[in-house]
Amino acid sequence: MNRTTRAAIGKWLLILLAVALALCAASLLWVDHQLGRFAGAGTAVVDRAGFEGPARPTAITGVAVLSADGEAMLADRDVLIDQGRIVAVGTGLALPEGVDRVDGSGRYLIPGLVDAHVHLKQSPNDLLVYLANGVTGVREMSGNADHLAWRDAIEAGRLGPRLFVASEKLERHGWFTGHFQRWTRNRINVRAPEHADAVVRSLAADGYDAVKLGSLLDHETYRALDRAAAGAGLPLIGHYPVALPLEALWASGQGELAHIEEIAKALDAEFGWFGNADADEYLRFVARRSDEVAAALAERNIAVVTSLWLVESIALQKAAPADLVAEIELRYANPGLVEGTPLSKGWLPGHNAYEVGPEAGAAGREAAAAYWATFAEAHRILLRAMRDRGVALMAGTDANTAGVVPGFSLHDELQSLVSAGLSPAQSLRSATAAPAARMGRGAGKAGRVAPGYRADMVLLRADPLLDIANTRAIEAVVVGGRVLDRGRLDAMLAAVADANDGSRTIAL
Ligand SMILES: [Zn+2]
Repeated sequence: MNRTTRAAIGKWLLILLAVALALCAASLLWVDHQLGRFAGAGTAVVDRAGFEGPARPTAITGVAVLSADGEAMLADRDVLIDQGRIVAVGTGLALPEGVDRVDGSGRYLIPGLVDAHVHLKQSPNDLLVYLANGVTGVREMSGNADHLAWRDAIEAGRLGPRLFVASEKLERHGWFTGHFQRWTRNRINVRAPEHADAVVRSLAADGYDAVKLGSLLDHETYRALDRAAAGAGLPLIGHYPVALPLEALWASGQGELAHIEEIAKALDAEFGWFGNADADEYLRFVARRSDEVAAALAERNIAVVTSLWLVESIALQKAAPADLVAEIELRYANPGLVEGTPLSKGWLPGHNAYEVGPEAGAAGREAAAAYWATFAEAHRILLRAMRDRGVALMAGTDANTAGVVPGFSLHDELQSLVSAGLSPAQSLRSATAAPAARMGRGAGKAGRVAPGYRADMVLLRADPLLDIANTRAIEAVVVGGRVLDRGRLDAMLAAVADANDGSRTIAL
């Protein structure tokens, strides 16, 4: 080969390399764009300030108020609100001059609802959908810097539900997988147990309210994170690693499980992984173990987030997602999530994240639905055992997971809890007094309609203790002392639906 040929080949190789690099960069940008769209970033953000209004001293008069123990409605109370707090509750209160008055006669006042497990992703419009549903507090279970900023702005007086922000999920991977999971799935990589301290310290420095555990952690890393979280004074919450026996939970400082599923899975592992053939045997096993497990949870004050409705919905999403989609308030869910992308499945039939593919046929669909029906039944058995042992149950929905519409889904959850055997009062407590104690630093008193408590409340047109479905009959929402009447709540919902319609590529 002479020199000219070598030079020509060299030139072409350089051109090829440049083209390959350009293609690579374009693919990375495309993937990144799709990930953003799937998180909701493609939807116009509604300006919340337009709905804000001032927080004025207000009296809600002649209203029935949920009692402190949550078991009864106390008739004909006046509730005085000022500076974001409940100032007084009583019958025939002498009201100061000039307070706004809201006629509460024939109405029911309950504490603002909390969804203990949500995913806000890149969808700030969800904050309005929560408020419109009486959800005045949410606990973000895969938090990022945006969520921390939203939390702080709301705490400083912007309109929105109070936020508790846990970190993104911590897992242990090698260098390459760790980076890939960080980029595509928002996982935080703890490369080795000796890195646990540094990771947790940086989360604490960033201002997270809790450290969120993933399912794939090994025992050594789990223990290291447990020690690190205790050292940093951060609650250790989230999944329970599937590889660990429950003994490791009892020996840990983990204070909260992100789903009842964590226990259902641990018992499934003890049982030896059930299938449809031994479903009844698995359920009998769960029933036998449930009391002991519930007692251990109660003894260690480990709170459990319910997310029952989601698990119950999976049988339907597996076999007939069109039926589920017809049932839910899809208009208010971010279209990025609902539609999915070429890289991530969404909620719609034919491209639903849980759906059984057509290749499995009717038999495959039925088998999957039967499996998930069994798993949901295991959840209900565990829920009742936890209730009987006084475990701190927190209603949570895993909102923005396939099929779970922010805000609206909390009412579905409360109803699922009652259908499974909780009383309406117990169901309501799981979304009010129970999570109030676990809303993070600076939370103050919340979760009750009583003097000194945060003025986060929901005014209902019907009594939720008679029928839990009445939590949907929302007349007004009070958040941080601001009263949002029905007209304003409807306007908030309409603005979000409009923004969603603007970014839809598949008509509903
Ligand atoms: Zn989740």
